[in-house]
Amino acid sequence: PKTIGEVLQNSLEKFPDKAAVVTEERALTYSELDARSTVIAANLQKHCSVEKGDRVAVIVGNRYHFPLIVFACVKLGAIMVPINVKLTADEIGYIIGHSDVKALISEADHFYKIEAIQEQQPQIIPTEDHIFIIDGVNTFETLLQPSNPTTKVDIDELDPAFILYTSGTTGRPKGAVLSHINVIHSLINFQLTFQTTPDLKTLIAVPMFHVTGLVGQLLHMIYIGGTAYSMERYQNKIYIEYILTYKINFVFNVPTIFIMMATEEEFKNNSFDFVTKVAFGGAPIYQQTFNMLKEVFPNAELHNAYGSTETTSPATLMPVSYSESKGTSVGPAVPVADIKIVNQNGEECPIGEIGELYIKGPMVIKEYWRNPEANETSFTDGYWHSGDMGYVDEDGYFYICDRKKDMINRAGEKVFSIEVEDMLKKHEYIKEAAVVGIPDPLYGERVKAFVVIDHFTEADVPSIKEHCLKHLAKFKVPELYEFLDELPRNASGKILKYTLKNRRN
Ligand code: ATP
Repeated sequence: PKTIGEVLQNSLEKFPDKAAVVTEERALTYSELDARSTVIAANLQKHCSVEKGDRVAVIVGNRYHFPLIVFACVKLGAIMVPINVKLTADEIGYIIGHSDVKALISEADHFYKIEAIQEQQPQIIPTEDHIFIIDGVNTFETLLQPSNPTTKVDIDELDPAFILYTSGTTGRPKGAVLSHINVIHSLINFQLTFQTTPDLKTLIAVPMFHVTGLVGQLLHMIYIGGTAYSMERYQNKIYIEYILTYKINFVFNVPTIFIMMATEEEFKNNSFDFVTKVAFGGAPIYQQTFNMLKEVFPNAELHNAYGSTETTSPATLMPVSYSESKGTSVGPAVPVADIKIVNQNGEECPIGEIGELYIKGPMVIKEYWRNPEANETSFTDGYWHSGDMGYVDEDGYFYICDRKKDMINRAGEKVFSIEVEDMLKKHEYIKEAAVVGIPDPLYGERVKAFVVIDHFTEADVPSIKEHCLKHLAKFKVPELYEFLDELPRNASGKILKYTLKNRRN
């Protein structure tokens, strides 16, 4: 296939009556997924003239509506902008304004955020007849009414399919533009490396609005003709129950979830010998967690998957034959990818030496949406600068050791320090602030703020938290605080984050 539409078409022909997606509310066969998304596409065109290249913002969690909207957009050649449902009105407002959307689909739970944006920046929100609310007054049902199918739109493999916003090292989020060919290459890479087959069933517990849930699980299953089960909100016991009930044989998750699962009796006392594939990524895995997975899933291959939104999911994947001998390596580069390790001067490092990973290949995005500055600084000769530090061994296996980018990885959710620091500095009594990730056995890292303040009593921790929560999603708000008289700086005035990270108090 060359387009995501063809991905569905291929599996539809082979498995029309098989369940493609099973959510807590309902199941969709391949035929239903196809037919209903065609109707939604027609209605988006009829009600708000969505055309090829138009952006459609989507604030929806792991519900059956999500895959329907994916394929409706794909059929129109429209660009879907999935938005993290945990973001605040401020954060969502920026994304909607920057991607300049023509239509907006949201769950009723997030409508209050849309209203807040409407009040503050009415010019960026689509008009009311272009807004569709699931379980709301102006309902999503409008989009499911019978409607004449749209005329077929010609889609090129290089056309954009999604814009996924990732927070940036320079403050504002950047929109990674994922083209059809980026996604197709990721799907091929998953299928070839994991050797996935139509009998596979996965359970999506991570959000579908992030790249792993979207490409690594949802679209991957559609590509191979498997079934994607999903849950709206992750809960240990329910996750384990689903795996056992539905005999989920392809388990894919962030390491934190595996650590949480390991604390449950059901996890210890049941046999998971039907699981044949286990993948993990989004954050580094501890050796201990890796060893635990080997024990709990005795018949499964273990696959570390390293990638990012900009690489449309995997850049390296642990293949089938090597799963054990290379420990927590993230595997070799996926087929047709080119990864080099580069030192501070931009020169390639020899084997075994740590440097930044530069990644090139057909799954790597070409650009950030309307962001010439980020496009200029993030790519060199088509290589995307990952901001991750690592090395490669003599067999071509990569190891991730550290990060160059000022980012905190909290259980797979990424928090860019600068965004939180900017918000802290807006507090009237905070003079200076620095935010770092503190190692944590469960979350991998937790967000810690070091602050210099004028009036301690007025600027205590609850008031600082409250201030941040008004504007930032909860997972970004610092959980730990330390008040300092001044921040440690080097001779040129740069804050020494490394010193802060390693401080003992
Ligand atoms: P998702 O957003 O679905 O969680 P993702 O983690 O692949 O997918 P991003 O949120 O863009 O994508 O985050 C990418 C960053 O996550 C990488 O640059 C790296 O720092 C970290 N990362 C991803 N996978 C791994 C891994 N297997 N091992 C170590 N770090 C990883």
